[in-house]
Amino acid sequence: MCTDCETTQAGPVFGRRHFFGLAAAAAALSTGMARADDCAHFDSEALKAASPDQAIQMLMDGNARFVAGGSLNCDLVALGHATAEKQTPFACVLACMDSRSAPEQVLDQQIGDVFVARVAGNVATTEVIGSFEYGTAVAGAKAIMVLGHNHCGAVKGAVDKAVVGDALTTLLNEIEPAVAATPLTGERSSHNHEFVEAVAEANVRMNVAALTEKSPVLKGLVDSGALKIVGALYNLETGVVTLLS
Ligand SMILES: [Zn+2]
Repeated sequence: MCTDCETTQAGPVFGRRHFFGLAAAAAALSTGMARADDCAHFDSEALKAASPDQAIQMLMDGNARFVAGGSLNCDLVALGHATAEKQTPFACVLACMDSRSAPEQVLDQQIGDVFVARVAGNVATTEVIGSFEYGTAVAGAKAIMVLGHNHCGAVKGAVDKAVVGDALTTLLNEIEPAVAATPLTGERSSHNHEFVEAVAEANVRMNVAALTEKSPVLKGLVDSGALKIVGALYNLETGVVTLLS
């Protein structure tokens, strides 16, 4: 039985949803992001008018709704119909495959809003970079967020130098540079929580850098001001996404 579900069906929450609807509308006005309403799909006109900073702000506004329990709960079937012929997502998100860190949920984004690539350890593989070249240079998304998280099993595996299969070992090796670059106090072990979280942050920063280092297309967009790439960390306990400065 889902006690949360009972809570969200209670009367007072409707008012809260309405409140957050107004708050989101106010945020949209303040950032100049035009939508007919909170649950209208992001169209090409809005995308054209959006700046990279506004796109990032929309992601962070969504996380604020999620944390406050005020997710929009839009009609996803209706949005599926509305975007079936054409999608115009405003951002790309690279996240870990972790079941607890789904970007559409923790950033409260709807169908048609974001391109999402997920790989254990949020590693910017060639396939991810190619996907984001499409999402930005072809489809026009204005921002990329690399979203790591605490208690990451992939980071722990890299810290422990876990060996399972060739493919997994190859993937974990991609996180090794972040392990090597993180000052170690205490033992190199996944039980060293402070070290694990420091590696997770370093890993996000390195993958943010990798996107432009490995992709002249993404670098060109960033240099021209058409695209902004940011790193962020999701906290499993609080639900809060924090941008890395
Ligand atoms: Zn993870």
